[in-house]
Amino acid sequence: MYTTLPVKTTRHTQMLDITRDVQKVVTSSGVKNGLCIIYVPHTTAAVTINENADPDVVRDFTMEINKIVPWEDGYHHFEGNSAAHLKSSMIGFSEQIIIDEGRLVLGTWQGIYLCEFDGPRRRKVYVKIIEG
Ligand code: ZN
Repeated sequence: MYTTLPVKTTRHTQMLDITRDVQKVVTSSGVKNGLCIIYVPHTTAAVTINENADPDVVRDFTMEINKIVPWEDGYHHFEGNSAAHLKSSMIGFSEQIIIDEGRLVLGTWQGIYLCEFDGPRRRKVYVKIIEG
């Protein structure tokens, strides 16, 4: 059993802070101690953890990743979105966070982000809670 969080992205490249939504899943599960797995079932989106205090961090992140993997670079993939596929695998499709006393154990400045690399689209984030 797992929970599906629907996420609607609004830009081509975007990082959406989903920390509160994931915490809500943890809270409603009633699990006090365990592990939270966050998984993105897409090939052009990803999930990561990074600073959520200064919005410029996200701005810089998206700016630089688009330089590292440019949208146009003579790719062969017929869909024309190879850059998004590459970025998704670079960032990764899952994160694991410890649950302690019913709270996600995140650092002071950390937030959980859904990374959109080929938006805008409707995305799904799967959240699995394991008690223990
Ligand atoms: Zn594709």
